[in-house]
Parts: sequence; C-alpha cells; structure tokens
Amino acid sequence: MHQNIADRLIDISSKIQNSCYQAQRAEDEIKLVAVSKLQSVEVIKEAYSLGINNFGENYAQELAEKSSTCPNNIIWHFIGPIQSNKTSLIAKHAQWVHSIDREKVAMKLNNALELEGKKIHALIQVNIDREESKSGIFPEETIDFANKVIAHYPNLILKGLMFMPQINASKKAKIETMNKIVHLHKSLLSELPSCTELSLGTSSDFEESIFNGSTILRIGESLLGKRS
Ligand SMILES: *Cc1c(COP(=O)(O)O)cnc(C)c1O
Repeated sequence: MHQNIADRLIDISSKIQNSCYQAQRAEDEIKLVAVSKLQSVEVIKEAYSLGINNFGENYAQELAEKSSTCPNNIIWHFIGPIQSNKTSLIAKHAQWVHSIDREKVAMKLNNALELEGKKIHALIQVNIDREESKSGIFPEETIDFANKVIAHYPNLILKGLMFMPQINASKKAKIETMNKIVHLHKSLLSELPSCTELSLGTSSDFEESIFNGSTILRIGESLLGKRS
C-alpha cells in the first residue's frame, strides 16, 4: 500500500479509469465514496482537499460529530446498520442512506425526515444469499419492498440497491453472488426506472464491481489507510 492518501487516490483512480475503459462505461457514472468510519477528521479533510467529497460512515453518532466539524459541502452516506433509535441523527446529517433493511427503519427514518423537512437518497440493502446472520431484504422480497418504500415513505428517494460482500467467501461464491445481485438490480430497474444505482464494491472487489454495473464504490482502508 502507498504511504499517503494522495498516492493511493492516484492508484485507485487509475484502476477505476482502466476498468471503465475495459467495461466500456463512462467514468462519470461511478461515484467513489470514501468510507471514513473510525478515521479522524484530519484524514477526512485531507481526502476532501484532494477532491473527494462523498464520505461513508457506519455509526450515527460519529456521523453527527464529523458532519458538524467537516466542510459543509461534503455529501455524507450512511452505510452501517441502522438502529431505529438513531434515525433522527441520520435524517439530520446524511444525504444518502445505503442500508434500508426493514420496514420499521424506513418508517422511522421517513418520520424523522418529515420533522427535518428533508428528503434523502436511499438504497435497499439486499441479503442476496439469504444468510441468517446478515441483515438485508431477501432477494424475492426486494421488488415488493421497493414498491412499498415508494408508496409509503416519500422522504426516502429510492435510488437502487446496496450489497455488502462476504469477506471470506471463495472467489467462485463471490462471482455467483455478484451475478445474482446484478440480475436482481436489472429486474428492479425494469419495474422502477429511477432505481439506477447499485452500491457494490469495496476495497477488495471494486474492479469486478465496475464490470458488473456498480455505480457506487465504497472504499475504506485502501484509500484512507488503516482504521484506528
Ligand atoms: C467498512 C465498510 C466498507 C469499506 O471497507 P474497506 O475494506 O475499508 O474498503 C464498505 N462498505 C461498508 C458497508 C462498510 O461497513
């Protein structure tokens, strides 16, 4: 790994550029979200000064503290599990939420947004392999759930799907999983054309994700360095 954020950004940007070229995709279709959970405000400011303005946080309290002290044109993405008693912090401080994984959370967030007089971009987190231990909506329920969000929770501007890969899965399993999520996203998109976004791809698999149509990459340590 390179020593500093600037060098790592150059490296990741050129990999993104290459993958886009090979996949025949336009680079501006892809949003890079720097995952800054457990990173200092100094690290965020340094990345921001290099032109990164989308940051991802996993903990509501940490998001609230950072968004109050960092440059105010940063776009904050909440990507962690949502506790229903933290929805007002998320409503107040995030512009995107990637981890809508049950109706209760959609409802609470929608209510909190109503009080803020605000709407945010939302993604449904999918548990594509139907793993017991993981959060997320099962694939066969995703399209119904998406329709429900649109019908009942208008402060969530539904934009698509998010998926968190299993870190220690085999290469073959990862490919199968990725194929399933891509297929599900296509079905969703054919029914709901505004659901254009697919938040897929972290440090370990963002190049494959670009080939598979990812539009949002969530990259943490390989860009910002080791978390404390
Ligand atoms: C931490 C995290 C990431 C980034 O992981 P890295 O391995 O640091 O790139 C991406 N998505 C989610 C949901 C995360 O919690």
